[in-house]
Parts: sequence; structure tokens; C-alpha cells
Amino acid sequence: MTDEKSTPSRARRPRPIVAIDGPAGAGKSTVAREVAVALGYVLVDTGALYRAIALGAHLRKTPRDDRHAIESLAEELVASGALEMHARAGQTPTLVLDGVARTDELRTPDISQGASVVSRYPGVRAALLELQRSFGRQGGVVLEGRDIGTVVFPDAEVKFFLTATDERRAHRRHAELVERGTESRFEDVLREVRERDERDAARDIAPMRAAEDAVVLDSSERTIAEVVAVICDAARQCERGV
Ligand code: C5P
Repeated sequence: MTDEKSTPSRARRPRPIVAIDGPAGAGKSTVAREVAVALGYVLVDTGALYRAIALGAHLRKTPRDDRHAIESLAEELVASGALEMHARAGQTPTLVLDGVARTDELRTPDISQGASVVSRYPGVRAALLELQRSFGRQGGVVLEGRDIGTVVFPDAEVKFFLTATDERRAHRRHAELVERGTESRFEDVLREVRERDERDAARDIAPMRAAEDAVVLDSSERTIAEVVAVICDAARQCERGV
């Protein structure tokens, strides 16, 4: 099931919606942040929402494999406002869960795997869909995720899908974990990255894939600055109506 039919065909907004999708470790977060800062757009890290559901389940001791319990939890977290994302132009968004701003807790290897497990459940995706759309409709926004160009905003004016080799992506993740002081072995990170990609690409609902009209960029062949420049150019051309 996708929700593609319920959104209008490509809209014209004064400033575009920029969708950046792709697998774990392709450099999406850094690229999306730099693009948002350069353009003065709002940045929305949609992965943090799925991570927050996994963290919420962990804090409440709800088993991840209990689909119905996790779906009810996701609905409740969104409806009650216990899950919020504070996103402002040019700034890194803050994810608030149960009134507490969460950063490092969301990025542990266990929560990464948990996010990829709970994101398979249709009720979880449905609960987060409207929230994601509420940030972007007016344009001037950069959303990074897995299904932004295909499901959340199939009418986004600017769509990119970032890829990189498994090894390159695992190196990035590993370096991030080390920087954060989390002990990890490269081989474990490589295995986890592959497991997560397989799960994200194979799920029935909103699988990770490039939209037909997305530009696919391999970030192993380019610097982050080059990727950022390509995406910013596309957004500026759109602002000028080119
Ligand atoms: O991007 P990030 O690594 O933070 O995403 C964590 C997990 O959340 C992904 O592995 C994926 O399972 C899920 N996700 C998703 N759809 C999105 C963003 C993230 O299914 N738009």
C-alpha cells in the first residue's frame, strides 16, 4: 500500500520540497543539513521519527516484534504529542520524546536496528506520514529518508537518491560511532548496515527505492561539497522557475 494517489501531481510552490533518500551511511544527513543551511530551508530528519518509535518501545519495554503493540504505541505517541520534531530553517531538528530532547540515545546501533524493524509495520508508517507531510507542504524544506520521493512527497520538485558502496557507508557509520565514543568493530557495522538495507529495501510497504524521477548520485565518487552543490543548484533552478 502506498499513499501516492492521495497527493496531488507535481505542485508549484515558491520554494521546492527537496527529497533526499538513500540507504544508511550514504551521507544523507550531512548532505541534507548542509543543503538546508545553504538554502535557508527547514530540515526534517525522518529517520529520527522511526528511531523515536524504537526508543519509545524500548523505554516502555514493548517488544519490537509485537506489531500491534508497536502500531498502537506509534499512534499514541503522535496523537498525544509525546513525539515531536522541532524543525526551524537552517537548523538541525530536535526530536523530543516524552518531553526530553533526544540525540545520542537515538543513534545507538540497537536503536538503528530497532527503527528498521518497527518501520516495516503499516500502522507505524501511517502514524508518521501526516506528521512528515505537515512539515513540508509549503515547500522550502529538505526531507531526508527512504521513501520521501516515492510516498511522503511524490510531488516533490527536487528528488535525489544518494548511494555509496557498502564498505564506504560502513566506514562512515563506524567513524560516527567512534566519534561519539561508542565502541564498535568495523565488521559488525558492515554487517548491520547490510542487514538494515536489506530489510528496508525488501519490506512490503514503502520500500527504500529511488523514485523514477529521482537523480541517483553515488557519493563514493564525489565529495560531500560536490553533492551539496548539485542539490543546491537543482533547488535554486526550481526557485527561479527554470
Ligand atoms: O535514516 P536513519 O538511519 O536515521 O533511519 C533509521 C531507519 O528508519 C531506517 O533504517 C529505516 O528502516 C527507517 N526509515 C524509514 N523511512 C524513512 C526514514 C527512515 O523507513 N523515511
